[in-house]
Amino acid sequence: MSLSDQNNSSQSVIVDTSRSPYTRLHPAPIKAVVLEDTFWRHRRQLNREIMLPAQYGLCERTGRIANFRRAAGQLEGDFQGQYFNDSDVYKLLEAAAWALVGEDSVELKALVDRLIDVIAAAQEPDGYLNTFFTFERASQRWTNFDLHEMYCAGHLIQAAVAHYRSTGETRLLHVATRFADHICARFGPEEQGKQFGNDGHPEIEMALVELYRTTGQRKYLAQAQYLVANRGYGRVSDRPFGRFPTSYHQDHLPFHSLTRLEGHAVRAVYLNCGATDIAAERDEPELRIALDTMWDSMTSRQMYIHGGLGPRHQNEGFGPSDYELPNARAHAETCASVANAMWNWRLLLLTGQARYADVMELELYNSILSGVSLDGKGYFYQNPLSDDGHHRRQEWFGTACCPGNVSRLLSELPGYFYSTTDTGVWIHLYASNSAALTLPDNSTIELTQRTNYPWSGEISVETKTAGLYDLYLRLPGWCKAGWTVTVNQEAVGYELTDGNYLRIRREWRAHDVVQLNLPMPVERMESHPFVVENHKRVALMRGPVLYCVEGVDHPDTDVRLFEFSESDTFEPEYVSDMLNGVVVLRGTAQVRATEADWEERLYRSQESAAHANSARRAAVTAIPYYAWANREPGPMLVWLRTV
Ligand SMILES: [Zn+2]
Repeated sequence: MSLSDQNNSSQSVIVDTSRSPYTRLHPAPIKAVVLEDTFWRHRRQLNREIMLPAQYGLCERTGRIANFRRAAGQLEGDFQGQYFNDSDVYKLLEAAAWALVGEDSVELKALVDRLIDVIAAAQEPDGYLNTFFTFERASQRWTNFDLHEMYCAGHLIQAAVAHYRSTGETRLLHVATRFADHICARFGPEEQGKQFGNDGHPEIEMALVELYRTTGQRKYLAQAQYLVANRGYGRVSDRPFGRFPTSYHQDHLPFHSLTRLEGHAVRAVYLNCGATDIAAERDEPELRIALDTMWDSMTSRQMYIHGGLGPRHQNEGFGPSDYELPNARAHAETCASVANAMWNWRLLLLTGQARYADVMELELYNSILSGVSLDGKGYFYQNPLSDDGHHRRQEWFGTACCPGNVSRLLSELPGYFYSTTDTGVWIHLYASNSAALTLPDNSTIELTQRTNYPWSGEISVETKTAGLYDLYLRLPGWCKAGWTVTVNQEAVGYELTDGNYLRIRREWRAHDVVQLNLPMPVERMESHPFVVENHKRVALMRGPVLYCVEGVDHPDTDVRLFEFSESDTFEPEYVSDMLNGVVVLRGTAQVRATEADWEERLYRSQESAAHANSARRAAVTAIPYYAWANREPGPMLVWLRTV
C-alpha cells in the first residue's frame, strides 16, 4: 500500500519523504488519525481481536505457516496447500503490522514477531524466498511466471514496509530488500545481461515503488517501471494456466494501449495501482492517459453499483463486452473492491479529484464491507447483487486472498482520511476522529471531526490550530443539491475546486467549527439500458450506502415479488438493535402475484396472468447491502422490480 508514513528511528534506511513529485496531494500517515466513531472503531476492534487472530490460527491449521518452518529446515513433511499460500501469511502480517499503529497490544506484537521469525528463517542465502519452491522444487524457481513468485514477493515487501513504518524496526524490511535485490539482479533489460521476467499476477509493481519510497533506492522504482513496460507482449506466458487468453493477466497489449479493464479483475487493478504509483514518481504522460481511459471505461461501463468488479466466475474477471453486469452470478471478488479502493486512492493523490474518493467510499461502505460478516467471523469471496439464500460467508477459503485484504484495509483505514499540500489539509472521508496533520514545512494542523456518517450527512470539523491555512472538504458525488457550509454558524466564503472540494482559506482560530451539511435523501438509482438484467429495476441508495431487501425481514412475501411504482417512497429510520445499528429504509410495495398464482409454471401468457392476480400491498424494509446474509438465509435483491 502507498500510505506513506514517516519514521526516523532507523539509521540504515533512507526514509521516504512521502512527497512524490507528480502528485498533487501528500498522504497523511496512519498514526496521524485516530478514528473515534462507533462505526469504524467497532470494526477495527473486530479486526484486531477477532479477524487477525482467527486468520493467524487458520494460517497455522492449514499449513501456511508450517510451510515457512519446513523451508527453514525446522519441520519435516510436504509443502501444504497452494503455490501462492505464502501471500496469505504476508497479507496477515501487513494487516497486523498496520494494526499496531496507536495500539499497545502485546498479543498482536507477539503475533507479528512470531511471523517475522519464521519468514526470516525461511529465506535462502541468495535472498530468494518462496516456500513452494524449496527442496524438491528448488530447480523450478523462476521457470513459470504464472506461479506467483513475484506476487508473493510483492506482498512480503508490502508487509515489510508496513512493519517498518508502524514500528521503526527493520528486521522484516531487511528480508524484503534482500529478496527485492535478488529479483532486481536477475530480471531486467536483456541488454543489461539480465533475464526477461514478469509475474502472471501483478502486485509487486506497487510494492517496489513503495520500497523505493521507503529506502530511497531508485533501483526498485526502475524495476517496477521495467515490469509495467515489459508487460503486454505475450511473453509472461502463452496461455495462462493453459486455458485463458493473455488478457487474463493483462499481457495482451502494452500498458499505454489499454483502454478498458480486461481479464482477471484483481490483477488488472493491482497493475493499475503500480502504474499509478510510477506515474506519481515520474513524468509518464502515456501511463496517465491509459489510466484515465481505463477509469472512464470502468465507471461508465464495467463497475457494479456497489463498486464490485469482474462479473465472471470463470476468469474471476471481465468478458469482452461492456455492460455485462449479472446480479446473481456476479463474481465481484472482495479483493477486487479492495484493489479498486487502493487504485482510486492513488488517483486521488495524483489529482485532488473527489470523484476518486467517491469510488473509494463506494467500495468501503458497500462491496468491501459486505466481504466480512458483522461478527468478523465470516468472509465473502464473491459479492453478488441478488441471491436465493444459498450464498453465505465462510470462515476461510482454499484460496484465502480476501480475508487478509479486508483486514489490511481496516488496519490502514485512518490513512485514507486526510492528505496535505503546502497550504493546508484535505478531508476525503467523513467519520468522527481526531487528526494531527503535518504540512511540508513541518507545521502541524490539528482538528477533530464529529459526525454520524454514513447515517447522517451533518459533519462538523473543529480546528485546534490557529493560523492561515486551507481546509479542503470533499463534496461527495452522491450529494447533488442542497448542501450548506458555515463557519461558527455564519456564512463563509469558499471556492469549489474543479475536483469538487470546498476550499476554505482563512486565518483560523482554535475552536472554529466548520459545519458541512450534506442532505441524504433516499435515491432511486437506475441502470444504463444496456445492462439488460436491470431493465425496469431500481436500486436504493442513501448517501454512500447501497440498500437491498432480504427475505428475513419479509416473512410473508418473497422479496422477488415486490413491485415499486414511482410514487412509492422510502423513509430512513435508525434502528439501534438491528445489524449492529443501521439506518433502514421503510416503505411499501405492490405484490401483484403470489407464488401460488404461478401454479408451478415457469412461463405463461400475459393474457392468462390477468385473471390470476391477487394484488395487495406489503411493508418493505431495506437494509444496507453490506449487512446482508448476517441472519437467517433467504432471498436478497439489490435491483428491485418496478411497475
Ligand atoms: Zn480475494
